[in-house]
Amino acid sequence: MFEGCAACADGGPAAPLEVTYDYDWHRDHGTLARWHERPPAVWSYRELLPLPAAEAPVSLFEGGTPLVRLEVDGPGTIWAKDETRNPTGAFKDRFHTVSVSMARHLGYGKVAASTTGNHGTSLAAYAARAGLRCLVFADPRAPEVQRGLIQLFGARLVSILDRRPNLAWLVRERGWYPSTGLTPWPVATPYGIEGYKTIGHEIYFQLGGRMPDRVVCPTSVGDVLYGPWRGFGELAALGAEGRLPAMVAAQAAGCDPVVQAFAAGTRDVPVHPGPDTIALSIGDETAAAYTMDAIFESGGSAHAVSDEALLAAMRLLARHGIAAESSSAASVAVALELARRGEITPGEDVVCVVTGSAAKWPADVAMAAEAHALHESDPQTIRAWLEAFDAER
Ligand SMILES: *Cc1c(COP(=O)(O)O)cnc(C)c1O
Repeated sequence: MFEGCAACADGGPAAPLEVTYDYDWHRDHGTLARWHERPPAVWSYRELLPLPAAEAPVSLFEGGTPLVRLEVDGPGTIWAKDETRNPTGAFKDRFHTVSVSMARHLGYGKVAASTTGNHGTSLAAYAARAGLRCLVFADPRAPEVQRGLIQLFGARLVSILDRRPNLAWLVRERGWYPSTGLTPWPVATPYGIEGYKTIGHEIYFQLGGRMPDRVVCPTSVGDVLYGPWRGFGELAALGAEGRLPAMVAAQAAGCDPVVQAFAAGTRDVPVHPGPDTIALSIGDETAAAYTMDAIFESGGSAHAVSDEALLAAMRLLARHGIAAESSSAASVAVALELARRGEITPGEDVVCVVTGSAAKWPADVAMAAEAHALHESDPQTIRAWLEAFDAER
């Protein structure tokens, strides 16, 4: 199950296994109408999640995040789906609530993952809640605060750049459960992405039972984009009306393999040599073929923005009271760029998934914050500064 579908592997990497459901049964039995009555939250949509109905999930009360209208000039409406509000400050919590619930359900006592920060911190929290042993292989560039959180949650941490061989060994030889993305590189779980579907479900209901026109996602491997795309597709299978949204990938110019694949019209994503961007969470040097499928099938697109544009988008979100890390502001940066180019039409709803909080990325905060502070102990200097500040405007 963790190695993908060997039968359909065609020379290249195995295609991932995915969970399917009896959509016709749910369409005929009022599942969509029931969902309308429930508050947005991951487990509000559990009829189409893999955990048996009688079993309690491993939950930290994830999802149910706000959809916030951004003040941006121009036609159309730009929304932020504020995923910073999840228990560990990133949309990854939607992944691990389902993935770890399934690990426990299947009888696994130990879970492992590879991370640049957010994914591992989230897994460690859910493993703690579930009482499972947890091991996280973390990129040495992951912020110190995230290493601390992973250990605070009781997980063991291994700092290592090439994380996959050891992870695969634990899974193949030692019976660990991989709470890793959908792509078998080389091991994966089919369950986590089920949690990402609920981003799509929540957006639909938060817009009053309506499909958005575009959904922009800060994209690395692309589960962040493919998950909600599956969510919208399932809503349609359950009887929701309206055109499915165009799925748009947002990347950093210093690491944009999805943008290159999109420009070339291929689902074989190239490897971006030597990623160079502040946006570590979207810094994977390549991406999954199904990410490209979702972009092409949905009539979407892929765009890269500079690190400077990421910092500007962080500042725009901060003016709305949302502290987002640089990677997660890529969606907003791309939406602003599309708006500037006049590509957003009147009446269009563009939803930017804002994937993670700045609180766990101190370097991002330091780069984006404008200097508003006085560091001084001399009373006269302080008073003069206060007088000048008070007199402003
Ligand atoms: C993991 C992550 C992403 C990208 O997710 P993929 O599914 O790998 O594309 C984007 N933003 C943040 C903040 C993340 O932590």
